[in-house]
Formats: sequence, C-alpha cells, structure tokens
Amino acid sequence: MLNRELEVLMKATQGLNVLYVEDSKVVREAICEMLSLYFNDIDTAYDGVDGVRKYRDFYQKNARYYDIVITDINMPNMNGIEMIEKIYTLNRRQDIIVISAHNESQYLLKLINLGISNFVLKPIETQQFSRVIFNVAEAIQYKKERKAFNDNLRFEKEEAKQSSLQKSKFLANMSHEIRTPLNAITGFISLLSEDETDLKKLKYLSVIQNSSDSLLQIINDILDISKIESGKLDIEAINFSPYDDLITVAELFQAKAAEKGVVLKIQYNHDIPNILFSDAHRIKQILSNLLSNAIKFTPSGSNVKCIVWYKKGALHIRVKDYGIGIAADKQKSVFDSFSQADSSTAREYGGTGLGLTISSKLTEMLGGTLTLKSVEGKGSCFLLRIEMPLGTETKSPPSLSLSKQDFVGNHILIVDDMQSNQMFIGIILDNAGMTHDIAENGIEAIEKFKTKKYDLILMDENMPRLGGVGATKEILKIEKKSGQLHTPIISLTANALKGDKERFLKAGMDDYLSKPIDPSLLLTTLNKYLN
Ligand code: ADP
Repeated sequence: MLNRELEVLMKATQGLNVLYVEDSKVVREAICEMLSLYFNDIDTAYDGVDGVRKYRDFYQKNARYYDIVITDINMPNMNGIEMIEKIYTLNRRQDIIVISAHNESQYLLKLINLGISNFVLKPIETQQFSRVIFNVAEAIQYKKERKAFNDNLRFEKEEAKQSSLQKSKFLANMSHEIRTPLNAITGFISLLSEDETDLKKLKYLSVIQNSSDSLLQIINDILDISKIESGKLDIEAINFSPYDDLITVAELFQAKAAEKGVVLKIQYNHDIPNILFSDAHRIKQILSNLLSNAIKFTPSGSNVKCIVWYKKGALHIRVKDYGIGIAADKQKSVFDSFSQADSSTAREYGGTGLGLTISSKLTEMLGGTLTLKSVEGKGSCFLLRIEMPLGTETKSPPSLSLSKQDFVGNHILIVDDMQSNQMFIGIILDNAGMTHDIAENGIEAIEKFKTKKYDLILMDENMPRLGGVGATKEILKIEKKSGQLHTPIISLTANALKGDKERFLKAGMDDYLSKPIDPSLLLTTLNKYLN
C-alpha cells in the first residue's frame, strides 16, 4: 500500500470503535496487534455469546453501536454467523468484516445471503487485510459525512421555517402597529369632513383621505400575506348573494375606470343562483384586485370586461383587459410575493406586487383556481373558478334607523391606551347623546368599574399593564362575587388574527368589533346591549 493511501486509511480508521470476536487467544492477540495499527479503540470478545453481550453493553454505555464488528466464524457456544444474525436484529446497518479460513467455505453461502461482502482469508495477508479495512472505513466515513450533511440540511430547513415564521409575525405586528394610528387618521378625516363647508379644505381632506386609504390598503395587504404565510387566516363561508355582493363591488370600480377614461363593462348571467355559500369577503377581495389591476394596466380609451357566471357547481369570474399584457416568461412570477412583471412597473404604475399573490393564495384556500392568459401589448385575461354549493336564504333583520333617543343617558367606559382612539370613540358616543369615562389600561378599567356604574364597557385588547382579556376576566369575577347585574363588554381591537374572536368571547366578552371602527356599526352593536 502506498504511503499516501496508508495516511488516508489511518485518518479514516482512527476514532472508529471496533469489536473483534475470536475464540483463540493466540490468534486474537496477534490480530489485535495488527488492528491496533489502524484503530485506537478495540474491544474483544471470545465467542458469539460474549460478542453479543459486549455489543449490547457498548450501546447501553454510548447510545450508539460499534462502527465495525470483525469476527471469526468457527467458535464454540455461538458461531460467527449466529452472532451476526443476532447483531442484525439490533442494527441491520452494522458494518461487519469476517475473517474466515479456507475450510469454512460451507458458511460462505450463508454470509452472502446475509449481505456480507467483506472477507479476509486466514492466514491473513496484510495487504488484503488493509484493503478490506480501508474499504469499510471509507464507506463509514462517507455515511457519516452524508448524515452530517442531511442533519445540516434538516437544521437549515428548520431554521428557514422558523425565520419565515418570525418574519410573518414581525410583519403582522408591524402592520398592526401602523394600522392603529392610521385608523385614527381616517376616522378623524371623516369627522372633520362632516362639519366642513369650505370647499378648498374639503378638497385637501379628500387628498388626505385618498392617501391614507392607499396606505391602509398596502398595510392590509402586508397583514394578509403574513397571516396567510403563518397559517393565521381564516376562511369563513357564509350565505351570500352573488349579485348584491359581487356586482356592487364591480360597479364601484366603474367610477374609478371612468376617471381614467377606461370603460368597465360588467356582464352578469341571470341564471346565477340567488344565494351561494362561500367566503364572500375573500372573493370580493380577489375580484377587487383583478379589477384594480385591469384598470391600472389599461390605457385610457380602451376597455375592461368583467363577466360573472355559475356553471356545474362553480362560480366563474373573468376579468379581461386590453392593456399592456404580461410577457410569457413573466406570467408565472407575477403570482410570487412582491413580484412585478417589470422593474419599471412600480415606477410607472405603483403597487407592491402583493395583490396577485394574495389573490392566488386565497383562491387556493377557497379550493378554486386562478388562471391567466395574456399577450404582451395586447391584454390579459384572468379567470377565477371556485366550486361552491348553493346557499340558503336567510332573512336579514330589518335595518334599524337609530336616533339619539336610543342612546341618551347611557354611560360608557372606554378602555383604550391610545389617545386618538379614546377621542374618536368619545366623539361618536357624545354625538349619539351618551356620556363616557376613559381608562388607559386594564388595571384602570377594573378600578373604575369598582367605583362607578357603567351601562357598557368598550374594551381594547393590546394595552400596557393589563390587556382586555385579563381585565374582562377580573370584572366578571367581581360581578360574580357581588352578585351584581352583568355589564356588557364589547371588545374593540385591531387584532384580527385567526382565533382572536373566539378568544375574546371565551374570556367572557359579549361581542367583538374590529378596528377601524365603523361608527354606524359601533352604534348598532351598542344598541343591541343597551336598554
Ligand atoms: P401590483 O399591482 O401591486 O404591482 P399584483 O400582485 O396585483 O401587484 O400584480 C403583480 C404584477 O403583475 C403587476 O406589477 C404587473 O406587472 C402584473 N399584472 C397584474 N395584472 C396585470 C394586468 N391586468 N395587466 C398587465 N399586467 C398585470
């Protein structure tokens, strides 16, 4: 063997644990001496029974098996073949080298059946012995490297998964944080617009309104994509009227299209069932995205068509435009997050590249398909197909027209740490003829509740010191102890993650409203609980 080969062999063998089984003391000692050239850790056994015992003991002590078992065949008590069979029941992947004499050829077939291919013939010829050891050590080395590589891969995959989850969580938190002050901005713009008569100021207010609406849209997109990626977005199927829900959305875009000089034609097949059952809110979101893109990417003077029909148990929506189209090689990637067909798209048309990603993910969650056909320079056609059953007509309660009389005299506790929210809700309550107190956090809410009588509590969730859920639990405890009548608690929160609603109701809150607060929805909900 060449020196270099020997060097490699020594490197591969040192550090390996070997069990050598041989009944003859003389042979054992002689071969052990040879083996010690290659291996540092050699245990010996004098027959098969002793071999199996040592094999088990080694595992008990080290939580792993020997790297190599080297064994003689002809031995008293338990021969080498029987021992190998026993070892294989413990570890089928054990590497084994058999040292056998010429006259033991009757065992050869059995060894071949056991899949053993490493033989060294007695009397041992050093060169051949080294080569066999070299082959086995090399195979072990390779297996170890492959295992380390796979472990590493698994670790990296797990790390990537964790960091993706972290990212989604961060995005969800960040968008939540941005949404809260933004809600206050839009809320106050609408309050200011109500009382404003100066046309110039009204125009400025409308610019602020439009800009904050776009910002809110971007934030909502980021929140949606992070919710989808972290599995926190719920699909909620309801009975809905495709005509009322979808056509009104499409019609809203007609004004936007007209502003740009684009004609939006809507075609609605009249054999569509009156009521279908699916997540209308998410379908509207997809439709809005498709229409908004179609109008955005279509030049003035051209048109966009939106056709809605129901066939073979599936709702179909086709949005076709005659705009800039999408190059064939970009058609797949436009469905990827933050991806736009062209780097100039953002400059020329704006947008974040999230709309189609959200749409296609939502479609998938709704069990449907969203397909694209497009020719660059000619236009694009998106087809949404979602299977959904027929719904059942539910009578909606007659809409109440609420007046100040319905609310006058009620005293409400607003629990919210954000001053802008306190003010905004306060103004809505004042305008409806109610009075209110403010608590900055859960602890203050409990203190106020103990000393004063309220007709209802509006409870934020994320607050310093004590959040809404904690405060509600405490308030319920106080009520139970003193036997007083229950004060309704309505959760008002910008948290809109999967399971939040259930969590709030489970904590004992009576109802749940998500921010941004819609003043009329707030009053309708209050009316349900106030006498
Ligand atoms: P955004 O419109 O915010 O950029 P989307 O995810 O909705 O993000 O769309 C991704 C990209 O797909 C767009 O930037 C645009 O390049 C391309 N695209 C989408 N709809 C159309 C369309 N109707 N016509 C041409 N290109 C489109």
